[in-house]
Amino acid sequence: MRVKIKDIPENGLSVNFAIPKEEVKGRDYWELASELAVSGKLARTSMSVIIELLCKADKNILCARCLEKVLLPYEISFTRSQSFDSLDREIDLKSIIFQEVELSIPVKELCKDDCKGICPICGVDLNKQDCNCARSAGINRKLIR
Ligand SMILES: [Zn+2]
Ligand SMILES: [Zn+2]
Repeated sequence: MRVKIKDIPENGLSVNFAIPKEEVKGRDYWELASELAVSGKLARTSMSVIIELLCKADKNILCARCLEKVLLPYEISFTRSQSFDSLDREIDLKSIIFQEVELSIPVKELCKDDCKGICPICGVDLNKQDCNCARSAGINRKLIR
């Protein structure tokens, strides 16, 4: 999605488009599950273009704690100002969006804030079932004493 600066009217230009998920680079634990819906506005001053965008999609993540693959909503919004030296220049909205998406991907994702993770002893997913490891570790400690 490229926009010529001279095509941005005084009162701004509304944009609304979608980027196929295949074009959005993810990580091995993070990928889009739907197209990225983009909406927003471009406004022009004498020397720069103010870009205000909202991007929405669904994402597939691999939880860093329980290792489950989970579908979650994804949303980012940002404002950028891009200076220009000539009205003939173009703004490449896609490359700006790709940079912002890249910045938005966390070092690790969790399926939910209070994910209990996997028991380090028996390996069960503690979100789905309880195990006795913590309890028996407690008993063992009592026996030792
Ligand atoms: Zn989890
Ligand atoms: Zn366990």
